[in-house]
Amino acid sequence: MPTAFQDDLLEVSVSRLRASGAIQADATSVVVTFGQGDHALRREVRIVHRRFPNGGSWSLFLCPSCGRRVRKLRLHEKVMCWRCCVQSGLGYRISDGSAAERAEARARRTERLQAQLGGGPLRLRPRPGRVMDRRGALELRLRRARIVGRLSVLRGVKDSSEG
Ligand SMILES: [Zn+2]
Repeated sequence: MPTAFQDDLLEVSVSRLRASGAIQADATSVVVTFGQGDHALRREVRIVHRRFPNGGSWSLFLCPSCGRRVRKLRLHEKVMCWRCCVQSGLGYRISDGSAAERAEARARRTERLQAQLGGGPLRLRPRPGRVMDRRGALELRLRRARIVGRLSVLRGVKDSSEG
């Protein structure tokens, strides 16, 4: 069984970068950032655009590891797409793992959320009102992660006393 899961990895979305203006419609590459502050990893990634007759377009990353056109890239030792993650033995979702693996992954996630909350504003160029929204959402996720963590500990105790 895998001990790491893709939904526990840092991820960047091409559509989010496009929406934020970080990717222009004629760009051929973009510098993506995983994580924040001193621990952030920056990496230039090639992009392609799928153009429509009405003048609009989609942007897609070219996976640096396999060259596939993908909407999201994840950081797992290096920058890669979800297929590359599967090939390197990663589970897709935490919920696919065993009880112990899920508990471990949740603990990591809680730690990471806490680090993000302690790390100040999350946006490089904050727009008024947006930082607080993001922070509120993170705090909610952290609370939820802690509750789920406690529940799984309780369930673990119950399971072991029954077995
Ligand atoms: Zn790939």
